[in-house]
Amino acid sequence: MKTATAKVGTKARQIADAYFDFASNFLGLSDSVKAYLRTPFRVVQVTLPITMDDGLLQLFAGYRIQHNDIHTPIMGGIRYHPAVDESELAALAETTTWKAALVRIPVGGAMGGVRCDPQFLSKAELRRLTQKYIARIHHILGPRADIPSPDMNTSSEVMAWILQEYADRHGHSFACVTGKPGYLGGLMDPYRAASRGAVIVLSKHLNELGHSLKGMKVAVQGFGKIGSNLALMLSEQGCEIVAVSDIYSGIVGRNGAGLSVADLIRYTKENGSVSHFPEARTIDREEIISSDCDILIPAAMECAITEENAGKIKAWILAEAANLPTCFEADELLEQKGITVLPDILMNAGSLISSYLEWMHNRGADTRNHRDTDVELYQRLDEAYLNVMKRAVTGGLSIKKAAYLIALERVSAEEAKHNHWRSRAHWAGGCQ
Ligand code: NAD
Repeated sequence: MKTATAKVGTKARQIADAYFDFASNFLGLSDSVKAYLRTPFRVVQVTLPITMDDGLLQLFAGYRIQHNDIHTPIMGGIRYHPAVDESELAALAETTTWKAALVRIPVGGAMGGVRCDPQFLSKAELRRLTQKYIARIHHILGPRADIPSPDMNTSSEVMAWILQEYADRHGHSFACVTGKPGYLGGLMDPYRAASRGAVIVLSKHLNELGHSLKGMKVAVQGFGKIGSNLALMLSEQGCEIVAVSDIYSGIVGRNGAGLSVADLIRYTKENGSVSHFPEARTIDREEIISSDCDILIPAAMECAITEENAGKIKAWILAEAANLPTCFEADELLEQKGITVLPDILMNAGSLISSYLEWMHNRGADTRNHRDTDVELYQRLDEAYLNVMKRAVTGGLSIKKAAYLIALERVSAEEAKHNHWRSRAHWAGGCQ
């Protein structure tokens, strides 16, 4: 378990660093400004002693990493996963800062989590773990400070537990967490918003190229909250979902036929995996990468697309629904092969937009409903997409590089203003 942990965290860090280095060098930032922008301003690690259902004591490591507080509050997910470590979460927190800047949400980025394997925890154990985690970090959270939201293996129910724990110590405030159930002030599930946002970006990109979603063959890696919702939404838009995978295995429609996603979601709920779905052929989970499709969607873990497997991709669009799913070297290979990468900081930014709207709504700052959330999602992603494409075309850059460049440019300019540093043009070498 320890090796896997180190591997994912280190790889995630390398991906975040590679794009940071590209954008910060392009902008000519000095070494000290670079170090400042990439370093999280707060890293909290806690030990969580939990009494398991069998009465034995088990220790878990919990983290909350706050990357940038140029805007407050800061926002970011909470994940429960065996690969969670400081390195991984710091990379994800940083990515959230760039994402927020790209879609013009005035928040800083954070990320937190607990290293555990939820499939081996009972619901009662998971609840005790969440309560202890919040008991240890509640002092750095809060509606004006840091707002958690769901991520891998956490749900609206976990957010409801967090709300309760926070309220026990600081008094009731719906605005202390997002992605809550509707009866507790939740607006739109962040994973639905992320999936909806991904559909918007994909559809815009295809339209730009004279295509549409209708008839596109799609393969989805990861069939959790994001992967299954996105597959469902895309199939409703006329895409054929030809293959999906999860941690256990993959499946492909028989004789190249599309899968019935609604049936597959029902099947997965009952059986815990996509494996042996009756209408499909079961394959090794890694085979999803080489699926015969137009669009490949990584919607699981970081570093899923590597230098080793990138060459096997047959799709002509790689649409990153997961965070940091593509290693930098693999990106270079994909660029050479002419495969378009729609980057995570644009593709899944819908969840951050909806979290921000929920937070505003909970503070009584506005009266949005689901329909308005949908409109706002469209408008922000439309604007971000057009800006990114313009920058990519004028600069002769990949879409991903253009997205990072815009995000870093905005944050660094904001920091310069805020901290009364000299203007960006004078930064290089000026702040050593
Ligand atoms: P989840 O825990 O609901 O689902 C993850 C899925 O990935 C599961 O089906 C799991 O079996 C599968 N998986 C894990 N390892 C795999 C592997 N090696 N190969 C194939 N499948 C594998 O998680 P989620 O909330 O859907 O998040 C997925 C990704 O989307 C993560 O990168 C997360 O950071 C990102 N994301 C999530 C949200 C959100 O609101 N939940 C928002 C934005 C981005």
